[in-house]
Amino acid sequence: RQAAYAALRNKPARTRDGTDVSLMLNAGLELDLDTLEQTGADGVGLFRTEFQFLVSETLPRLDDQVQLYRRVLDKAPGKPVIFRTLDLGGDKVLPALNLQREENPALGWRSIRFALDHRGLFRRQLRALIRAAGENPLTVMFPMVTVPQEFFAAKDLLMKEVEWTAETTGKRPSRIEVGVMLETPALAFSLKELAGEAEFLSVGTNDLMQFFYAADRMTPSVSDRYDLVSPSALRFLKMVSEECRTHGIRMSACGEATGSSLSALCFVALGFTNLSMSAGSIGPVKRMIRSLDLAAFRADFIEALDKPNDAFRNQLLALAAEHGV
Ligand code: PEP
Ligand code: MG
Repeated sequence: RQAAYAALRNKPARTRDGTDVSLMLNAGLELDLDTLEQTGADGVGLFRTEFQFLVSETLPRLDDQVQLYRRVLDKAPGKPVIFRTLDLGGDKVLPALNLQREENPALGWRSIRFALDHRGLFRRQLRALIRAAGENPLTVMFPMVTVPQEFFAAKDLLMKEVEWTAETTGKRPSRIEVGVMLETPALAFSLKELAGEAEFLSVGTNDLMQFFYAADRMTPSVSDRYDLVSPSALRFLKMVSEECRTHGIRMSACGEATGSSLSALCFVALGFTNLSMSAGSIGPVKRMIRSLDLAAFRADFIEALDKPNDAFRNQLLALAAEHGV
């Protein structure tokens, strides 16, 4: 199997009927970038910048951050890298900031909420990203946005830092792309407001499913409630896909589910042609995509989506098998 996946390394993730899917890598450490070459991934779809903070006893300095981001960009020549800004709090506890414990950390002072309330920290990170990009393109996405105002506030800070860097260093990124993560159901109902503001949206299935099913991602005893491959979750993602199309927002997905061939199949059927996953999943997902007759599958899949849970699942598994998945 490994050899079969390795043989796919330089082949495109193209369905039998000609739809290309970008397969990107989820990363958090500089070391992870080595798998870009090994897997033949199309780029880094999620770089978790908080890892550098989590492994350090003190807050990383501006220069440390610039160095890391530069090394990451250097290791992905000619390929896109999406830097996800600090996603701290919740399950990601920062040793250097002595914060109060919360009753429900997943629902608490975390991620973009935390970043917007720690402006010095957040601006320093944005500055580091801009400096690392120099005059190359820069792609940034903001995590756990629940209302568009958070996205606008974060983007505003990013643009201010771009101006500041241009004034002080004479350099600015040749192009800046700003995206939003869809990790809370609420945001799915506000995508219209992000039209023309967010260039792309990336579905973070780990958090999204946790909030969709009110099932803690860290608690194994409720993890079977946490099911992307179910009609309710997929009907919701279908709506997201339609909204993105209507409002001209490119869409992608990251989070663990993308690495399961069955979930990836559902994403592709819903029109997601950019999936980011851990290195080990690229080969199996690429094999699935290359064996897929997408148009035929999609028609049956959309029809099956109207069915109750068990009937849908049985039909999906049968269809998947029929399509070589
Ligand atoms: C997610 O929630 O799906 C995601 C990609 O972010 P993280 O797992 O880092 O919270
Ligand atoms: Mg998340």
